[in-house]
Amino acid sequence: MTDPLAKVHLLIQDGALTAADQAGAELARETRNLEIRDGQNDRFADGPACRRLAVVDFDPRTGEPLPPPARFVPSKPGSVRGAFPDDGDPSSAASIAVNAFGIAFRTIQMFEGAEALGRQVRWAFDGEQLLVVPRAGEWENSFYERATRSLQFFWFESTAKKIIYLALSRDIVAHECGHALLDAVVPSLYDCSTAQSLAIHEAFADLIAVLMALDSAILRTEVLKRSKNDLDGSNAFSSIAEEFGRSVPGPGGLARTELRALSNTSTLPDLAGARPHVLSTVLSGIFYDTLRSIFITRFYAELEKSADPGDTKIRDQAANKALGTAQIIFRRLLLRGIDYLPPGELSFADVGRAITAADRAVYPDSRTLRDELAQRFVDRKVVPDVTDLESDRPHSLELAPERLAELRDSDWAAYQYVEQHRDVLEISRSLPFTVLPRVDSTKATGVESDGQRAMHRELILKVSWNRDDGPSTRPVPTGATVSLSWQDGSCLALVRGGRSLKSEVNHHG
Ligand SMILES: [Zn+2]
Repeated sequence: MTDPLAKVHLLIQDGALTAADQAGAELARETRNLEIRDGQNDRFADGPACRRLAVVDFDPRTGEPLPPPARFVPSKPGSVRGAFPDDGDPSSAASIAVNAFGIAFRTIQMFEGAEALGRQVRWAFDGEQLLVVPRAGEWENSFYERATRSLQFFWFESTAKKIIYLALSRDIVAHECGHALLDAVVPSLYDCSTAQSLAIHEAFADLIAVLMALDSAILRTEVLKRSKNDLDGSNAFSSIAEEFGRSVPGPGGLARTELRALSNTSTLPDLAGARPHVLSTVLSGIFYDTLRSIFITRFYAELEKSADPGDTKIRDQAANKALGTAQIIFRRLLLRGIDYLPPGELSFADVGRAITAADRAVYPDSRTLRDELAQRFVDRKVVPDVTDLESDRPHSLELAPERLAELRDSDWAAYQYVEQHRDVLEISRSLPFTVLPRVDSTKATGVESDGQRAMHRELILKVSWNRDDGPSTRPVPTGATVSLSWQDGSCLALVRGGRSLKSEVNHHG
């Protein structure tokens, strides 16, 4: 059967890319095909809308609900393939709606693809459809809200008297959609109130925006051209929400070129006590450095293969190819770590532990990437020692492969399994626990050759409980993640949340 498809025009970045440089005018927009894979019982409709995502528009002045602003035009009568045609006005209700819908749609597909989580996620709210409100009202803000199942984007007038629609910013739409996706996989994090838990949400949302910027081949080429193949410093990937940042002065009325800079050298103590959005840049900075380092390694490898590495054209081609590969490696590393985040309150160190564990589960023998990552957590003073990011793979958690399907499908079997392994999971005898719905995911691991890719299938089990540290402290929500291989039932990872740091425990005797 034919998969539903909609051709759309999307802004590549935001108004700032063209405003800053008239030569970039034709770079402002790109045509993309949105495709619903295995699209049974699903199709594109006026809105835009589909089964998992729908635009709800309001009159920006009065707040009155409006009919769907963009029409789906089938390529021939009755076809599920067609377009949301461009009306030529980039700030029309239809263009704003299509842009917000299209970027959110692609962000979801990137997140769920075989190069990332390898499965469709369930939203953190009841129901299948995430709502997109492209013109929620006048305010210098945008947000994801679980209670209203929506992404809300506001508009405002800049100091230069220009109307800025936040739904037109690729970074901002991808960021808010990133919150919704993270909430779908780790819902407990949304309910946490510690500074680091909140900052983790912000860091992942920003990094998902970086991945969406990297997803544009046009933007990759353009950034490399402007930076002479150097990702250090400020560029369209490292800067989040440029137009917003330029239009709204920073704290103390300071002019700025972006909302947040991921290319930074801040350490955790530098930003202790900062707001979550600011604190988040320690974590996102660690990962931006990682992306940069993957790119540089790939770039040199490409140059070594080439006949004349001094030739400008060859260098540009090598850089382009290297960044194309680097974004896939980075996407796998970062997003698969989300699947391993345990329930409960999390620290930056927990994120480091989950991401290194997820990488080791798939690539046990190539450790350079995660060793370098661990060192960055030390350099940024998140943990005192690289051993603090280590996690176990206890043999005792293994299960015969023929019992995995039962563990996945039966709550009874899952509770039995956890009950049996309380000691290794460190759940005190008396404490009640909750086993979350198990996750069966298949992720691409190798490079594609002859249309075939090496795949990795794992069963992920998460358990949550309230840790009781004594009568004078409040119970702390915490948890653990166990990953088992479908191939042989071996334990690929055990990640426990809220661990005290090994090196500190040693230090105190
Ligand atoms: Zn945010």
